[in-house]
Amino acid sequence: MASTAGPIALACAMARDEETKRLRALEDQVSFLTQQLEALAREVEGRREEGDGSMRTQLRCPACRCRKILHAKQILDRTDSGEKRQLSVTSEGFWSPKSRGTFECHICTACGLVEWHVTDPSEIKIDDDKFEIHEVDDRGPGPYR
Ligand SMILES: [Zn+2]
Repeated sequence: MASTAGPIALACAMARDEETKRLRALEDQVSFLTQQLEALAREVEGRREEGDGSMRTQLRCPACRCRKILHAKQILDRTDSGEKRQLSVTSEGFWSPKSRGTFECHICTACGLVEWHVTDPSEIKIDDDKFEIHEVDDRGPGPYR
């Protein structure tokens, strides 16, 4: 018995050592991943607090992080007769059409990324076949809807 208990005890001790090493390695990995996850959670929370992330509100380029943003308040277009007018989504009127939904843009001065916006979307009348509204209700199925 004693001759077989020695090697078995030794094998068990070695197995315990290996298991202990493996558990420590796993604990280290869990600790590392926990730190990474906490850093990501802080980054996500920071980005949430930044708002919508647009150049218009943040004055920061999302591509290169540059803080020098050019705001083009009007984008010029030409009518069929060659007159200058603001580029817009649509116009109203036939003889002297008025621009509706004029564009503006924010341009990163470092990388040239352009972000377009309609200055006042409420100007656009959605009463014909040119437009469709796509809306998602993401409030979820809560009890207070
Ligand atoms: Zn940029």
